[in-house]
Order: sequence, then structure tokens, then C-alpha cells
Amino acid sequence: MSPIKAVRGVRDILPAETRRWQRVEAAAHRVFEAYGYREIRVPLFERTELFARGIGDETDIVKKEMYTFDDRSGESLTLRPEATASVLRAYIEHGFHVEPKPVRLYTMGPMFRYERPQAGRYRQFHQANVEALGETHPALDAEVIAMLMDFFGALGLADRLELRVNSIGDAGTRPAYIARLVDYLGPRRAELCGECRARLDRNPLRVLDCKTPGCQPIIEKAPSILDSLSREAARHFDTVRECLEAMGVAHTVDPRLVRGLDYYVRTTFEVLTAELGAQNAVAGGGRYDGLIAQLEGPADPGIGFAIGLERVVLLLGGDERGTGPLAVLIPLGEAALRRLLPAARRARQGGVPVELGYGIRKLPRELERANRLGAAWAVIAGDNELARGLALLRDMRSGEQRAVPLDGLADELIRLRAEGAGPR
Ligand code: AMP
Repeated sequence: MSPIKAVRGVRDILPAETRRWQRVEAAAHRVFEAYGYREIRVPLFERTELFARGIGDETDIVKKEMYTFDDRSGESLTLRPEATASVLRAYIEHGFHVEPKPVRLYTMGPMFRYERPQAGRYRQFHQANVEALGETHPALDAEVIAMLMDFFGALGLADRLELRVNSIGDAGTRPAYIARLVDYLGPRRAELCGECRARLDRNPLRVLDCKTPGCQPIIEKAPSILDSLSREAARHFDTVRECLEAMGVAHTVDPRLVRGLDYYVRTTFEVLTAELGAQNAVAGGGRYDGLIAQLEGPADPGIGFAIGLERVVLLLGGDERGTGPLAVLIPLGEAALRRLLPAARRARQGGVPVELGYGIRKLPRELERANRLGAAWAVIAGDNELARGLALLRDMRSGEQRAVPLDGLADELIRLRAEGAGPR
């Protein structure tokens, strides 16, 4: 029998990478909270019906990508493919709508989609999701987008990303545009890829999203949705852009940005990178007025986005440093172990990462281990030192040693750390 491996498309995030994840998560907490967002944690699975109703029966996600199963009582449950439906379910269930508007919520965690795995695309992946609920003012759209770009700015990534914005109009005027699009695409059906021919029948807007090179010349000449906006939708979009400009948020308008989910209206946006090959979307979002009502909640509007955290971590790149201990404590024997064990604990309580040997290996082996762990210091205590109440503090770089009192060892390590010493 061979050892069991992780499921295809599902990956471990190994220690060499977790520092970067922590930086990304810390930036999200800091930036979102500065804009008044509060964290909410929603379950990893919900009733299947929530996603069917909240994402749309005709979307790729619901048709092809959900992890759906019956639990032992026969109820159909689904691992969440996205977070918006769950956050809105919680908003309705807990009566958030009575709070001052807009209600600002964010959440982070794993999502599950049965997609074809490739670099930057997984079957379990992580998102940070932001939702602002109960306010239609276009300044909110601009604020949400500015916050997204501030998140990337906080990680030093802003220069490597492109923000695209669009308006896909209101539910009321979209059918007229879709009719124009179908009039245009219909006679060109034979030139479209197989996928697009199917989309033309099911969800013609999605043709604009196609990445197949052969479809591009047709898509480029398609009528622009921006020419079909209602007066209100056009004014809304103009104000969003003016507010973005007032805040100095660089963006390009992309009339073909329609996004994959059915629920969007008016503002849509996406953040793209040229550095990750085919998986070029790092974040995306839009306005979804009407979705809360569709889930049997109040008629509150909403806007939000999702950031793909794997892709952010990939962009950050770089090797990990500074994960080793500051010092390795090396007792030579059982009696020394009894003295160093509490000293190690005191140093750790003081926030200093230290490692301990257990007095079972010879000194050269212990020093080699300290070296491999990348420790800046080794602390050696044998019977001779113990008898004098001392330990030897060895600089792992130079090999120089000096004696320090065992009683003051933890404080000495805390002092060294405060002086800026770190693992090599
Ligand atoms: P969506 O919820 O489809 O709008 O996706 C929002 C963001 O999540 C995308 O821009 C990607 O960065 C990320 N994302 C979506 N699907 C995947 C996946 N299968 N693997 C990794 N990241 C993903």
C-alpha cells in the first residue's frame, strides 16, 4: 500500500509559506477595520438551496462546480463555493438590517469549487470577502474599491496590479442589451468556440468573458454595455468614477467586464495581474442590489468583493526568513535539563523563541542541530557550569563564548532579543 496523498486540487500550506499568509491576513484585518468593517465567521457548509438561490442556477459554479452531498439525515448540503451567500444569510438570520447602514462585514477562509486544477487554481482555495450592505450611494462603491486597492498597497503590490471597472446596468435594462448582443453574436455563431456557442444560448453575457483567442476579434467589436445603460445607471457609474478620481484610485474602464455570477448589477470591478499566466484575476466584485431580497430578506442593496488569497501569496513570492529560534539551550545531562527547562519556559513567556535539547545527545551533535535550526546563540550547561550556577552563551556565528548566571539566563535572552538579535 502507498501512503495516502492530499486530494487533487487541494494543497497543504507549508511552514515555509505561512509567514506570507499571516502577512496577507494581517493586512486584510488592518485595512478593512480602518474602513469600519467587522469580521464575521460563517460556516464552511450550508444548505445547497442557499447557493442555488444566491448564486444562480445558471452559473458555472452551481451547475458544475459545487461539492454537494447528502448528510446522514438526507439533507442536501454544499461546501461553500463563495462567501457572499452565507454572509447575506447571516445578515438576514441575525437581523443586521436594523443596524445603522451601511452594515460593513468581512470574512476570510477556504472556499470549495470542483474546477480543473492548475497553477493558481485549486479545488480548495482561500478568499477574503467584503460586503457593504444597505446603501446604494455610488460613493460607497468607490470607497469599497479604494479599500481593495489599499489592501494591495499595504502589501506593496499596487504597482503590479491593474484595476478594471465597468457598469453592467440594472436588471431592468439588461435584457435590451442582451438582445442587442444576441443580434450581433447570432450571425457569427459559427466563428465562436464551442463553449461560447453554449453560452450564447444559456447566458450570452458570459461570451464577453471568454479568453479563447479565436473569439477575441468578435468580442472586441461587440456592442458595449455602457451604451445601453439607463440614465440612473449611467449617472451612478459616472459618480463612482468621479469618486475614484477624487481619491486618486487609478482605474481603466472595461466594458467587457461582466463577471461570472448572475447577481451583479451596475458596478463591477476586477483586479488583474500580468504575472500569473492564465489565472490573471486576483480579486473581483460588484454591486448586487436585489440579492438580499432574493434570499427572502429585506430589500437592502449590497456591494462586495472577493480576493483570491493564494494568488496574492504567489505574487508576494520570496523566501522565508526568521522562522528559527533565537537560541538553542543545550543541557549536558539530566540535572542540567532540570535547570534549563524552566529557563526556556521563562524566555518563551517573554516572547523569545528558544529551542531545547533534552540532554541525550553529545555536544557536537547539539551544536550541529542549533546550526541547522539557524539559531543565533547556543546556551550550554554541563555539570561544571551547573556547580558554579552558570551557563555558557555561545555566539553561533563567531564561536565566541561567555559565562552567564543561570538565574539571569532568561532575562539575558530577552535582552538580546530586545537589542535586535534574531535567528540567522
Ligand atoms: P470569484 O468568487 O469567482 O469572483 O473569485 C474571486 C477571486 O477568487 C478570483 O479573482 C480569484 O483570485 C480567486 N479564485 C476563484 N476561484 C479560484 C480557484 N479555484 N483557485 C484559486 N483562486 C480562485
